[in-house]
Amino acid sequence: MNIAVAIDGPVGAGKSSIARQAAKKIDFIYVDTGAMYRGIGLYTVRKGVATRDAEAVIALLPEIKLDIKIVEGAQRVFLNGEDVSEDIRLPEISMAASDVSAIPEVRAFLLDLQRGFAKTNNVIMDGRDIGTVILPDAQVKIYLTADAEVRAKRRYDELIAKGKDVKYEDVLADLNQRDYNDMNREIAPLRAADDAVIADTTELDFEQSCELIVEIIKEKAGI
Ligand code: C5P
Repeated sequence: MNIAVAIDGPVGAGKSSIARQAAKKIDFIYVDTGAMYRGIGLYTVRKGVATRDAEAVIALLPEIKLDIKIVEGAQRVFLNGEDVSEDIRLPEISMAASDVSAIPEVRAFLLDLQRGFAKTNNVIMDGRDIGTVILPDAQVKIYLTADAEVRAKRRYDELIAKGKDVKYEDVLADLNQRDYNDMNREIAPLRAADDAVIADTTELDFEQSCELIVEIIKEKAGI
C-alpha cells in the first residue's frame, strides 16, 4: 500500500521547502497543491476576471487544463500547456489563489487531480485541507506552523533574495489576510486534523525543521 503524508498549515510555515527536502530524503513524490490554486488564480487574473466573482470564475473552469509534471525532481505546473511555474509565484497571484480557493467548484475541480497522485505514489502532499479533506486516511498528518512574524520575515527574505521590491509590513499583512481567509471560509477551512502532529518551527532553522518532519514521518509511517 502507498504511504501518504499530509502537511497542512498557514502561509509561509515553510511547508513547500521542508516537504520537498523531506520527500527527497525518504524518496517520496512531493505534491504542492497550493500551486494548483495559484494556476487557477493566474488564469483568472490573465482573463481580467475578478477573482472574488464566483460565478465568473466557475465559468472559466472548462477552459482550464492544469498538468502537474515532475521535471528533474521538481514539480512544474502547466496551464493549458504553458509552463507557469514561475508566474504563479508572483505576490499578486497569492491573493488571487486564496480568493478562488474559497469557491467550492474550484476545490471540486482540483480534487481528483490531487487524490490521483496518492493513489499511485508514496506522497508528501502539502496544502490547507490535505489531512482533513483530500487524504483523510493519510498515515501521517502534520500541521506545520510558526509565529506569524517569523513566517512573514522568512517570506520577506525569500522575496528580497529573488529581487522583488517588497515591504515587510505588506508581506505580514498579506500573510495575515490570507490566513484569515483560509481559516474562515465555509468550505475546507484551514485547520489541523484531529489526528495531526503539530510541528512548530518558530525556533527552528530550515535543516532542523526538515529533521523534525522526517522524524515524525518515520515514526508514524514505520519506515
Ligand atoms: O500554499 P500556497 O501559499 O501556495 O497556496 C496559495 C493559496 O491556495 C492559499 O492561500 C490557499 O488559499 C489556497 N490553498 C487551499 N488549499 C490547499 C492549498 C492552497 O485553499 N490545499
